[in-house]
Amino acid sequence: MAVSIPFLTEPEVDYGAVVEMAPGLRRVIANNPSKFTYRGTGTYIVGQGRVAIVDPGPDDADHVAAVLAAVDGEQVEAMLITHTHRDHSPASRAVAEATGAPAYGFGPHPAADTDDGESEERGDTDFAPDMAVVHGDVVEGPGWSFECLYTPGHISNHVAYRWREATGVFTGDHIMGWSTTIIPPPDGNMTDYLASLRLLADSPGDRAYWPTHGPPVTEPQVLVEALYAHRLDRERQILECLATGPQTIAEMVGAMYADVASELHEPAARSVLAHLIAMVGKGRVGTDGEATAEAVYFRE
Ligand SMILES: [Zn+2]
Repeated sequence: MAVSIPFLTEPEVDYGAVVEMAPGLRRVIANNPSKFTYRGTGTYIVGQGRVAIVDPGPDDADHVAAVLAAVDGEQVEAMLITHTHRDHSPASRAVAEATGAPAYGFGPHPAADTDDGESEERGDTDFAPDMAVVHGDVVEGPGWSFECLYTPGHISNHVAYRWREATGVFTGDHIMGWSTTIIPPPDGNMTDYLASLRLLADSPGDRAYWPTHGPPVTEPQVLVEALYAHRLDRERQILECLATGPQTIAEMVGAMYADVASELHEPAARSVLAHLIAMVGKGRVGTDGEATAEAVYFRE
């Protein structure tokens, strides 16, 4: 039986407006909606007076102006970058120029993230953090502090930031309420992604997630467990397909996604490949050569 994920929607957004999301938390949404970004990039401002900015957003003059207007008269102490896709990090340059704030992040864009077909998920290869962070690091300012949570899977340089005073997490693209996350091999890694889901699932103290796209998640445990169960269910479906004999990804996608529109079969194939790479790695599935998009897979 398919797992049901409690997806959330956000029917209307006001681009460029500063909206208070919680005490000490404001958000400005960039006008870059797409099938990857939902309504657009949500840039968060934490604190009052001396603030931190999470994911400054795309290289978009209107968005940068809106973010800078939102913090007019305040001091930006830090920018926290979840990862280096172009809808997240590029505005850090313009914000740094205007405010002098350093950018925190895991590292530059990974060379293996070659998924360059679609603009919003392309890499920001110009980004380098001023301050490189690793799992467990704490970034502190007046009245706020963040625990860095290394969460690879979507991309190998993804970091989520736990806002300790509010016991909630800025989840970037790792966990979103509106959609599942794309795991594009070879840099996208399903084994890492599942471990990164467990990292948050096994932290029951978090009261909210604030993804970079879509509305706040107010029942984070319910969502993260559903996302995890959904991925395990896909693995089960793959094994079920292979029970009848060796198959290609195209054959499995045809069976697993028979009731899904055909334009979604290509992203589905990429997701199945991500699962198969992980399952071959664990010895649960075999293949005659490399785990590639064209290979034939069989049950071990
Ligand atoms: Zn991304």
